Amino acid sequence: MGRPPLNSRLAEFGTTIFAEMSALAARTGAINLGQGFPDVDGPESVREAAVRALRDGRGNQYPPGPGVPELREAIAAHQSRCYGSLGLTFDPDTEILVTAGATEAVAAALLGLVEPGDEVIALEPYYDSYAASIALAGGTRVPVTLRPRGGAADQHFHLDLDELRDAVTDRTRLILLNTPHNPTGTVLTRDELAAVAELCVERDLLAVTDEVYEHLVYEGEHLPLASFPGMRERTVTISSAGKTFSFTGWKVGWAMAPPELLKAVRAAKQYLTYVASGPFQYAVAEALALPDTYYAALRDDLRAKRDLLADGLRGAGLEVFTPSGTYFITADIRPLGETDGTRFCLALPERCGVVAVPTQVFYDHEAEGAPFIRFAFCKRTAVLEDALTRLKSLSG
Ligand SMILES: *Cc1c(COP(=O)(O)O)cnc(C)c1O
Repeated sequence: MGRPPLNSRLAEFGTTIFAEMSALAARTGAINLGQGFPDVDGPESVREAAVRALRDGRGNQYPPGPGVPELREAIAAHQSRCYGSLGLTFDPDTEILVTAGATEAVAAALLGLVEPGDEVIALEPYYDSYAASIALAGGTRVPVTLRPRGGAADQHFHLDLDELRDAVTDRTRLILLNTPHNPTGTVLTRDELAAVAELCVERDLLAVTDEVYEHLVYEGEHLPLASFPGMRERTVTISSAGKTFSFTGWKVGWAMAPPELLKAVRAAKQYLTYVASGPFQYAVAEALALPDTYYAALRDDLRAKRDLLADGLRGAGLEVFTPSGTYFITADIRPLGETDGTRFCLALPERCGVVAVPTQVFYDHEAEGAPFIRFAFCKRTAVLEDALTRLKSLSG
């Protein structure tokens, strides 16, 4: 054994923090508010649609490479329904690619578009798969840090547009943008997105946008970057059924882009999974056609849970950044006299029977993220209440 088994591209990436913290939850019997998966499945009609597809033999063999036509048409229709008024529509045959979740779509976009040595800008703290996917593509990640800003009542994480502009170099290939943003809950505003768009056009950059929380917006509105002037031709828009329909295990995602860009994504995707989730693709096609009332009810339910958890965490002595979107709350542990989120989260299950995730692991500038931890509120109300009762002992 001369060389260590893990290659140098992945050497810095151990087990994902979610696996580690979920194992800790299982071992200690703590309530898991770490990993972001709902504890109740999505609509019964959608689950039944998957059963029907399986029974009817639809999708049990390799589906077509780009995804089954029914799903690509449903994605196109959903896109027109939600963003058609912004002029953003996609052709189901040439501009939509079904993937194994948004995770594969992001990986394939980076593998297909990035040349070794290219720089990729991502908002920090970033979703953990981004760093690994950029590394696998041979790219260099350039984090731009979101920082807390605003008054006590309205603290949120904010994108510094000057810092973003300064991060662009002659080697920058693309900006990987996530809004609504996990883990901070920030939803970029129209003005911020317009500035990002201008920068991309001015510096001739591509954009890859992760919009998996497009329907989980409580304040403001979700605007796809691709709908801004000059962006449609240079943007790969990514979303997924996991968060929107509470079936995170199905792994049905999609990428949307003009034909030439999408071909590059597809070139990589076909040698990753080739295809995935056959019968689930038919079920997600039905899910996307659910009426607006479904999306509104999901949002209202999660907004109430957000408010419950935010109030409770404040009551437990944490500083809370109320998220405008996603199903995560980021909190600052410094009011408790703590400074190291990783140590805090490792001790939390023993201390009060709750699991949270240290946000530090989503930073390159680790010191910036040290005092922040993330809680997921996509859980039953009784579970959140139980967790909050347990967390009360923190301030005591
Ligand atoms: C959950 C999540 C994903 C993963 O989506 P899948 O469809 O499960 O692959 C991607 N990006 C962000 C920001 C997420 O929170």
